[in-house]
Amino acid sequence: MADNIVWHDHKVTRAQRAENKNQKPCLLWFTGLSGSGKSTIANALDVALHERGYHTFLLDGDNVRHGLCKDLGFSDDDRVENIRRIGEMSKLFADAGLIVLSAFISPFTSDRRLVRNLFPAGEFIEVFMDTPLDTCEQRDPKGLYQKARSGEISHFTGIDSPYEAPERPEVRLDTSTMSVDECVESLIRFLAEQNLITVK
Ligand code: ADP
Repeated sequence: MADNIVWHDHKVTRAQRAENKNQKPCLLWFTGLSGSGKSTIANALDVALHERGYHTFLLDGDNVRHGLCKDLGFSDDDRVENIRRIGEMSKLFADAGLIVLSAFISPFTSDRRLVRNLFPAGEFIEVFMDTPLDTCEQRDPKGLYQKARSGEISHFTGIDSPYEAPERPEVRLDTSTMSVDECVESLIRFLAEQNLITVK
């Protein structure tokens, strides 16, 4: 880290920013294999929260790789740096008082822990998309599994790059057995139980 950099405390605090929005900030971190439903469920939850009047923001793997992280590839080192940047960005959005939804494969336990540790207890919600690889591969929404199997792309999570499943996620969803609506209901219920939202 560069020397002589001092953290500036803001005059408007994190709590005041959230209070103005009448909500509690948190980060829902969707992790799971490609095709496990991270984007689909994060988007559906985003809509459900938005309709209830909550201020949210959605960060999505592919979109971030078009901009902030376009200099990064898929080597282990680059994946670590990708998640570090996204974690820090998620924290800034939460500091602004938002409910943040981040959908990234994030295959490594240590990286997810690093992001968890940026947040106060109870504000990091790990959502493990526990959809079996078979289902993800059959769906293959972006044709990436086919390319990984044929060797056209390498370091593909679940094929020739590991996915370390969370041991104690706050929420576990399997989209091979649960509909999109069921997943969203389950997340809304969890947020309400944790007093992060009030069901309106
Ligand atoms: P990821 O973001 O994890 O790569 P996506 O959400 O992009 O996954 O892709 C999941 C695919 O599975 C989509 O094409 C979606 O329409 C499909 N799908 C089928 N059933 C479900 C379900 N119950 N929940 C989420 N996605 C589902």
